[in-house]
Amino acid sequence: MKVVEEEQRIRVMEGPWTTEGVIREIIEEGTQEDPFYLMDLGEVVARYHQWKELLPRVEPFYAVKCNDDKLLLSTLAALGTGFDCASKAEIELITGLGVRPERIIFANPAKLASHIRYASTVGVDLMTFDSETELVKIKQAMPHAQLVIRIRCDATSAQCPLGIKFGCDPLTEAPRLLKLAAVHGLQVVGVSFHVGSGARETGVYARAIQLARALFGLGAAAGHRMRLLDLGGGFPGHAGSCIREVAQVINASLDANFSGCEVRVIAEPGRYFAAAAYTLAAMIHAKREIPTQNEEDGDGLHTMYFINDGVYGSFNCLLYDHQTVVPIPLQSEEGASRMSSLWGPTCDGLDCVVPRIRLPPQPIGGWLIFRDMGAYTLPVASPFNGFPLPKVRAVVDRRLWSVLKELWPLTEDHFVVGERVTGPQTPPPSPLASSPTESLHRTVFVEC
Ligand code: PLP
Repeated sequence: MKVVEEEQRIRVMEGPWTTEGVIREIIEEGTQEDPFYLMDLGEVVARYHQWKELLPRVEPFYAVKCNDDKLLLSTLAALGTGFDCASKAEIELITGLGVRPERIIFANPAKLASHIRYASTVGVDLMTFDSETELVKIKQAMPHAQLVIRIRCDATSAQCPLGIKFGCDPLTEAPRLLKLAAVHGLQVVGVSFHVGSGARETGVYARAIQLARALFGLGAAAGHRMRLLDLGGGFPGHAGSCIREVAQVINASLDANFSGCEVRVIAEPGRYFAAAAYTLAAMIHAKREIPTQNEEDGDGLHTMYFINDGVYGSFNCLLYDHQTVVPIPLQSEEGASRMSSLWGPTCDGLDCVVPRIRLPPQPIGGWLIFRDMGAYTLPVASPFNGFPLPKVRAVVDRRLWSVLKELWPLTEDHFVVGERVTGPQTPPPSPLASSPTESLHRTVFVEC
């Protein structure tokens, strides 16, 4: 493993390297006390290519809510994805990267009127709805909007079900809303759904696509020019996961229901692009040994380790995203494994990261790494109790870097999470700003 270039916080590597090896190197520099992420840019690019290969008919519109780290967003913008934004601030963030408004869908079925007006001023026309009141609001704020009706179709099991909150009934409500939109003079252009984030069933996409197809017929009969199908999110993101199986279901269902149609198909993957690219490193700064009555705990002692990131920080994903996390110790000491627990740094008893896990003895100042931490972690984290949020460092293979660095201008704020850098902020002229990423698109394709 050889670091050939170090630019801002990107490590450019030559020869064989691993994420764990790079994290060890950063730690061995001896100045690191706060938790940090190592983001592998190559993972994002590889996932983009996997998507293009397996779902050639489906354009990915990355769901910004999942992880709004600028480095990830800029990489995806350079690759040519679209974006799913849920608020004014997300639209601002994405248009600020030079992404054209046609590559954005405002995919929040319950929007603030002021956010709709903002979308209108910057030319983001495409937006979802699932209720009559939203139709009335959109009519007032942006009558020329291109509307996408969101229907409910839930996977039998999902890490985070969403149907409880969004999506109208496809058989009863949707036909009525399509007619109502026509009465209001609004244009419905398509149908969307979200089967649930971290969906554990693939067949649900076939059911949802079939329901959408029926609504294309009803929409056309109501006078709408139906031309967009939005498959939402739900795709797996953890390391080693593959969308091959779900892609087969989707492709077969598109062929059965939409072959030969002039229908644009998009999806809104979030965790698919974000999860595996980010590995978190956290340090043990305190420990306690306490007596335990639990017979499984062996020698009658249980070790509590306190680490510098917790449920108010990155591990909010335990509460909000129903994640399970697995620590990988980097510097175990000699000795028998013992039942242990991991606690975050705050003074709250709720701040428990792993309640029971057998671990070899860990030193104070030892580090643990957690893989697959890129989805629904950073944007939700808070610096409660004064503990800083982890910063993102990035690593990339030299071959890929030589292409990427030509494509977008990297500024300090690509690397800072939760605070802004002081000092001069003028970025170099952006190739994205004047002519959004079509040209970049081509170059990256060739290299990877
Ligand atoms: N689209 C919408 C409207 C969402 O609400 C979400 C997640 O909450 C996503 C896309 C991303 O979903 P996932 O991360 O499962 O791909």
